[in-house]
Amino acid sequence: MHELSIVQSMMELIQESAAANRVRRVTKVKLVVGQLTLAQPDLLQFAFATLKPDTIFEEAVLEIEERPLVMRCRQCGETFEPEYIQYACPSCGGRCEVVSGKELYVDFYEGDTEEEEHGDKSGDGATAASCQ
Ligand SMILES: [Zn+2]
Repeated sequence: MHELSIVQSMMELIQESAAANRVRRVTKVKLVVGQLTLAQPDLLQFAFATLKPDTIFEEAVLEIEERPLVMRCRQCGETFEPEYIQYACPSCGGRCEVVSGKELYVDFYEGDTEEEEHGDKSGDGATAASCQ
């Protein structure tokens, strides 16, 4: 399943970032998905629901923003939203290029950061080098 691997790599990416930023629980993930990726939003949701138990995503909500395929003519500047990639301009017959629809990225994620709940970290004397 295409969507499963998309969600899997998305989660790995966020997990790395979360670890670096001391985020212990992700609450929301916003994913931008272009039409050309052929990823189905409901299948992405399904994959996310399948993968998130026992992870930092357990209580997270996945929000998906779909971007339509948009093409622009290099000759006359006309933009249009065809159903499939179409390189000939409908107005002048010029060559067109894809301007939107290939997107596949995490727009942002939200989460709770780890708090300094207990100031009794054992052995912190060894690492506190900068405080006189
Ligand atoms: Zn044109």
